[in-house]
Amino acid sequence: MFLEIKNISKSYKKEKVVKNLNFSLDANLTLSVLGKSGCGKTTMLKIIAGLESSEEGEIFLDAKNITREKAEKRNTIYLYQEDLLFPHLNVFENIAFALHIRKLPEKVIITKVKTMLDNLELSGQDHKMPNELSGGQRQRVSFGRAIISNPSLLLLDEPFGSLDSLTRNKMQKLFKNLSRKYNITSIFVTHDLKEALLMGDQIGLMKEGNLKVYDSKEEFINDPGTGVQNEILFWDKLKTGESVEENNSI
Ligand code: ADP
Repeated sequence: MFLEIKNISKSYKKEKVVKNLNFSLDANLTLSVLGKSGCGKTTMLKIIAGLESSEEGEIFLDAKNITREKAEKRNTIYLYQEDLLFPHLNVFENIAFALHIRKLPEKVIITKVKTMLDNLELSGQDHKMPNELSGGQRQRVSFGRAIISNPSLLLLDEPFGSLDSLTRNKMQKLFKNLSRKYNITSIFVTHDLKEALLMGDQIGLMKEGNLKVYDSKEEFINDPGTGVQNEILFWDKLKTGESVEENNSI
């Protein structure tokens, strides 16, 4: 397995917020993780990224034990909804940043960044500064900047949380395409059921620090505890004109 999480736990003071995480993920796949606010999703991502410590357990990535590796040596990128673009660099330079650090030849950098801009549907926007972009455009630049450095694992923390629903739909499709083109392995945290189903090859559900990763999407859909059956019932009732009540158990 490309990513293996073994027995990871974390407490803040006396409160155990992440409890014996055990799961694995194959290369080039996305694991969606659903769960209510406060159930431990961000803490889990930060532990894998090396931004938080764990009390026990081990993390293997690409056949390497990275448990005690510093964040910058893990080849993981943690990305959240408030993108962190450099405000003084334009779109092109923001995306090219990691390639300049690696001192790649200028010609190679230009080709790679231009291709990325095309894939991000941002051609022609390369000279704009971050404050001249829409929220969705800024998020696309953030993705480009993250992906171009070829990380082993992307850790996405509600990346589309601040976007309106149309932009969000567009970003979901775009990220799917990018995942395929750049062979991305990722964990995608969201509290949106539909988004989890769309983005994930595999689905996990986190409750009070416990994560259950389902063997298949079918198993997830059929589990009454995931809320999918309630959702289906809601739309069925709406179609037949019965009264509907929101009841989402996630
Ligand atoms: P989620 O991402 O699912 O919303 P978090 O991982 O952010 O959840 O938080 C899980 C729990 O850990 C919450 O109860 C939160 O209050 C607590 N927590 C998170 N970070 C800290 C911290 N730095 N210090 C103390 N408690 C924290």
